[in-house]
Amino acid sequence: MNKQIYMDEAERALLHTYNRFQIVLEKGEGVYLYDTDGKKYLDFAAGIAVQAFGYGKKEYNDALKAQIDKLCHTSNLFYNVPIINAAKRFLDISHMDRVFFTNSGAEAIEGAVKAAKKYAYTRDGHGGHEIISMNRSFHGRTIGALSVTGNAHYQEPFEPLMPGVRFADYNDLESVKKNVSEKTCAILLETVQGEGGIYPATEEFLNGIRTLCDENDILLILDEIQCGMGRTGYMFAWEKYGVKPDILTSAKALGCGAPVGAFAMTEKVAEKSLKPGDHGTTYGGNPFVGAAVDKVIELMVKENIPAHVQKVGAYLEEKLNALVEKYDFITERRGIGLMQGLVCEKPAAEITAEALKEGLIVISAGGNVLRMVPPLIIEEQHVDEMAEKLEKVFALF
Ligand SMILES: *Cc1c(COP(=O)(O)O)cnc(C)c1O
Repeated sequence: MNKQIYMDEAERALLHTYNRFQIVLEKGEGVYLYDTDGKKYLDFAAGIAVQAFGYGKKEYNDALKAQIDKLCHTSNLFYNVPIINAAKRFLDISHMDRVFFTNSGAEAIEGAVKAAKKYAYTRDGHGGHEIISMNRSFHGRTIGALSVTGNAHYQEPFEPLMPGVRFADYNDLESVKKNVSEKTCAILLETVQGEGGIYPATEEFLNGIRTLCDENDILLILDEIQCGMGRTGYMFAWEKYGVKPDILTSAKALGCGAPVGAFAMTEKVAEKSLKPGDHGTTYGGNPFVGAAVDKVIELMVKENIPAHVQKVGAYLEEKLNALVEKYDFITERRGIGLMQGLVCEKPAAEITAEALKEGLIVISAGGNVLRMVPPLIIEEQHVDEMAEKLEKVFALF
């Protein structure tokens, strides 16, 4: 069937919440995707930082197929083995003590916010606590997650949102301090801001926030839904800074395509936080996603993906820096590891559309940033191929 027919059918049936790229993707292999016309694309988006192992990873596919034949879902009224294995592995790599599995990133944020509120409620014996979040942040689309997302454009149509949220400027400790009061129960931020335009936290800022939290019994929630799971060359980006959160959120590459997220916390938080009846989910942490998370983490550790990301990430940085030097309209590179952004003075959406014609998938962030979040298994040759294609595109602008 012709791709135009597929796209027309999609636009008739699906709610129009996305302006999609004008291709229909059909299959993937390694770091390449193929559309229904058989055209091949080098994938530097990885389904928005999800497909850490690219496509068709045999061990992963086999594990999921085997689990489907055994048992996919039980509900959380029972124990199941895959999620126990997944939880142990997740706690190992995250250095947290307890984890709750969700179905998405937004739900992980919802859980983290509830966990922080319950902690403060238990400690103080009353509610009415506030959360400090960051301008330019992104935490998801549900009403709670949207309420802590520092983007007026996303929020406005859905007001009134959850009250008790204050916004401070990212990488500006004074701005955060101004918002702290005896009501503050948590400070929430992305260790590396993703959707907002790829802004890593500064060492000074993150350390300052940790001290501020410690001095006031405020919980630090780090949202590592995009920057975690090896993407920065560390299993979680906070390790680079040596600043451990009290609550951590994960999703995206956690399931590598299986829809799963997580929020995790230290024992200190868990003791005063969510108890039976306080939180739940029907699907969350079922055997199917458990098998996925278990295998993803097993492979990430076995193949030492963070070390690979540090190496190939350094090479990518070098290549991108050269593009910044060469093209006047590319003004800056920002990022860590395989989470990189090029700041363009031309519309990023036009560049990504042209890149597609060249057989390269890149996406945008924050309006004017070309975002690169490729599969973590890319090699230097793929970076070269990307740069070659991108230069052909840049020549048009
Ligand atoms: C993608 C993302 C979310 C939301 O995750 P969903 O699975 O889309 O709900 C939250 N926080 C960050 C940092 C993200 O990148």
